[in-house]
Amino acid sequence: MKALNVIMLGPPGAGKGTQAERLAKERGVPKISTGDILREAVQQQTPLGVAAKGLMDAGRLVSDDIMIGIVKERLGRPDTASGFVLDGFPRTVPQAQAFDAFAQDRAPIHVVLVDVSEHELIRRLTTRRICGTCGNNAEPDAQSQATCSRCGGAFVQRADDDEQVVRERLAVYERQTGPLVAHYRTSPSFHRIDGNASAERVAVAIRTALGVSERAMS
Ligand code: AMP
Repeated sequence: MKALNVIMLGPPGAGKGTQAERLAKERGVPKISTGDILREAVQQQTPLGVAAKGLMDAGRLVSDDIMIGIVKERLGRPDTASGFVLDGFPRTVPQAQAFDAFAQDRAPIHVVLVDVSEHELIRRLTTRRICGTCGNNAEPDAQSQATCSRCGGAFVQRADDDEQVVRERLAVYERQTGPLVAHYRTSPSFHRIDGNASAERVAVAIRTALGVSERAMS
């Protein structure tokens, strides 16, 4: 079967993490979230985590060199042979240029832009809760649920989902990640998806754009 290689692009809060997770699970390929990799490093207090924590808490980006190294190493692992779904990378034009070069032999690489209005992004991010133990997102319609359905951990607000930090993250997105749309827009494997709809409808739109059918999740 042909490999399915996908970059999920979109502002923080667009739901790209949720969609990336869903698609990866359905297709049996790894979801590679650079935010998750960094949060794990912070939790384990590795040198990477110690260096990244302050930047992440302030809503700023970790350096391109570090991020490129992380993703290059991760894509070198055998579990990506039948594809991958990248969430949160590339985030700057230099990251995209480096990625285009080292992933050249993996074409086609689909780029899915999940587009959501700013008002809705702020609402979603400032009310979002994640599991403090495994990082799982709380279901939006179950914000009041006390514990994570996956591991039983308690839900917490991400430090960078504080409203002031959210506004900084959106500004950083506009400035540093926005230009990536121009970088990829003319590619035949670029797909713009309306992310204002429900997660279910967005998932259908993504599958349609990628030309893949629904599969039972394991
Ligand atoms: P995310 O979970 O994708 O919203 O990422 C959380 C934070 O991790 C970001 O606000 C950045 O500080 C950092 N981060 C994640 N991915 C990248 C990346 N590709 N380049 C730079 N910083 C990143």
